[in-house]
Amino acid sequence: MKKILFCASLILILGCKATKEVEKIKEIEKIKEVEIVKIEPEKPVIKNVILLIGDGMGLSQVSSSFYFGATEEPNFTRFPYIGLSRTSSASHKVTDSASGAVAFASGIKTYNGAIGMNTRKEHIETIIERVERPDFMTGLVATSSITHATPACFYAHVTYRYKEDSIASYMPKSKVDFFAGGGLRFFNKREDGKDLLPVLSQNGFKVDTTALGKIGTLTTNNKYAYLLADKGLPSKLEGRGDFLPNATKLALDYLSKSKDGFFLMVEGSQIDWEGHASNVQGVVQEVRDFDKALGAALDFAEKDGQTLVVVTADHETGGFALSPMQVRKQWQYDNIQGSFYQNSKSLPSAAHTATLVPVFAYGPMAESFAGIYQNNEIFHKIIKATGW
Ligand code: MG
Ligand code: ZN
Repeated sequence: MKKILFCASLILILGCKATKEVEKIKEIEKIKEVEIVKIEPEKPVIKNVILLIGDGMGLSQVSSSFYFGATEEPNFTRFPYIGLSRTSSASHKVTDSASGAVAFASGIKTYNGAIGMNTRKEHIETIIERVERPDFMTGLVATSSITHATPACFYAHVTYRYKEDSIASYMPKSKVDFFAGGGLRFFNKREDGKDLLPVLSQNGFKVDTTALGKIGTLTTNNKYAYLLADKGLPSKLEGRGDFLPNATKLALDYLSKSKDGFFLMVEGSQIDWEGHASNVQGVVQEVRDFDKALGAALDFAEKDGQTLVVVTADHETGGFALSPMQVRKQWQYDNIQGSFYQNSKSLPSAAHTATLVPVFAYGPMAESFAGIYQNNEIFHKIIKATGW
């Protein structure tokens, strides 16, 4: 009997002990859970993305802004994370701007010349078409025609980049809310005789072919179309002025009214053109102008705190180099000059090159842009960061 009692009490004590242990463990686990929740970093919220593309802007083009006429540090220095993009297309080691832009706009590699098309010549959804949020807004700014390869890949789907009339006809019904650039003739002096300016108006655009609007006067009841040249805008050397930074500021002033965030693409289109023309001063001025647009984007993002800014190029143009000058067969290491690989009569103009191009990132999730990756990864990094 005593034995039985002893056994029973032992079981009871041990049992009690066991339940107490379990409770203790549960308590510790609870504390741990609380601790885990506490130490997990807050997920950064990205509302807006500004993608700035310097067409033809390799590292030497970027570097030129550090050497020529810079009175302040270039805005490139404000980016904490830098990566390198591998630019080859699906069809060629040396890409063109069309397939380069499809990589950013739709996340795939395609053939040179494609506008919003994959290698099977099927329409491929763009980042602008993809986002379903009701009050989401989008904008495009370029110093080329707005129907030129780079901006076109964000809203149009045609088999070949030079069909700019066809590209323009995608704009009225596109999800673009704001655009500024050249290309008026592809809307109102078309081969099919149609005038797309009234069609833009019917689709909610306020069209202006004379000047950018004033900051603070744009309202979300309207979309805005600024077509300020027949084809490309004048170059910086020809007196374009501050169109690019001003259009960037105006776009941000308007798009930031969106409740669900925005996507803005800004292109320094003519860095590439001056590269093709082997015009050193032209390249320098176009990069400095693009740098001003970066300043506008970064000033906005710094204040906003929910904006990711990504800057890159589709490819490098011209094999641009910053070399010491040579005077009487002597290198002058303190005198820098720009030059292009094309300097013989057998090559009529400098072409695109296959060199890796830089990627600069600022804002929440900017760290994910460090490293070396394919150009179409830029799209996927943006989608991953934003949840779009
Ligand atoms: Mg371009
Ligand atoms: Zn080019």
